[in-house]
Amino acid sequence: MLQLSIPLNFLGVMYRELRQALTDIERMFGLLHVNQEVADAPDARALLPGPAAVRFEAVRFAYDPKRAILHGVDFDVPAGATVAVVGHSGSGKSTLARLLYRFYDVQDGAIKVNGQDIRGLTQSSLRAAIGIVPQDTVLFNDTLFYNIQYGRPDAPREEVEAAADAAQLTDFIARLPDGFDTRVGERGLKLSGGEKQRVAIARALLKNPSILIFDEATSALDSKTEKAIQAQLERAAAGRTALVIAHRLSTVMNADEIIVLDQGQIVERGTHAALLARGEHYARMWALQQQEAEQGEG
Ligand code: ATP
Repeated sequence: MLQLSIPLNFLGVMYRELRQALTDIERMFGLLHVNQEVADAPDARALLPGPAAVRFEAVRFAYDPKRAILHGVDFDVPAGATVAVVGHSGSGKSTLARLLYRFYDVQDGAIKVNGQDIRGLTQSSLRAAIGIVPQDTVLFNDTLFYNIQYGRPDAPREEVEAAADAAQLTDFIARLPDGFDTRVGERGLKLSGGEKQRVAIARALLKNPSILIFDEATSALDSKTEKAIQAQLERAAAGRTALVIAHRLSTVMNADEIIVLDQGQIVERGTHAALLARGEHYARMWALQQQEAEQGEG
């Protein structure tokens, strides 16, 4: 009987909120086309917490069997190291991140964490060990606090505040009318690209993940924001194993190794200096981006 007394317009609002929340979750995890067959093996084991070394071993993958995306990709991200993947749009960079998070399973080869094939790990332990800073951060129509706590919904307030601080949000939050309780999202305060990214970093850091996946936004940024992002990335990655999907080469100049992917294959790898010295793919991409940056600023 109680339901009958609820005004219809209230139900309409609830329905819209619910739909929005589901859409946000789907967008956030890129779940719209995810293969739902990824499941725990009957004898799956938990990934133990602590430093994590990641290995891609002859990884082959296709979303559609008629079109291979990765053609045998091999690389290591040693525990605590930062490895960046660069390459043209569509070369398969983000696919590597999706496979590591096990949104999909590889079709050949393996991805291993501390020597264990991730298909033999429980998804919950694997995903608890990985923090993702996605390309497009979805902000829920709720408070800033809620938006950060979303990274680990049972986290106590002090930890949410510490994560915000680590992501350098404290000063920004102090200037907001309602501080942490300010509403953000489409129907609240609109955050800039850089601020949204810091929320995403805070969310990811709240999990204290041993592995950080940083999927850099493609949108063009001015050089000041670009430098700030580079600094944020390096701070967040310190002491963790980091896989950075980069669009701007200047943000990953200091990576321990840079992998250049082209049409699903590694065509070059090395440090920034070594790749520049080779004078091939990476050096060409670097020269082009420098030129674009000069034109953009000039
Ligand atoms: P960008 O730099 O533009 O982000 P990327 O190198 O990260 O690109 P991926 O997102 O890994 O590229 O995509 C590699 C290829 O796989 C692209 O051709 C893309 O169209 C295709 N692809 C990506 N996601 C899916 C999907 N869910 N279903 C089918 N094809 C997909």
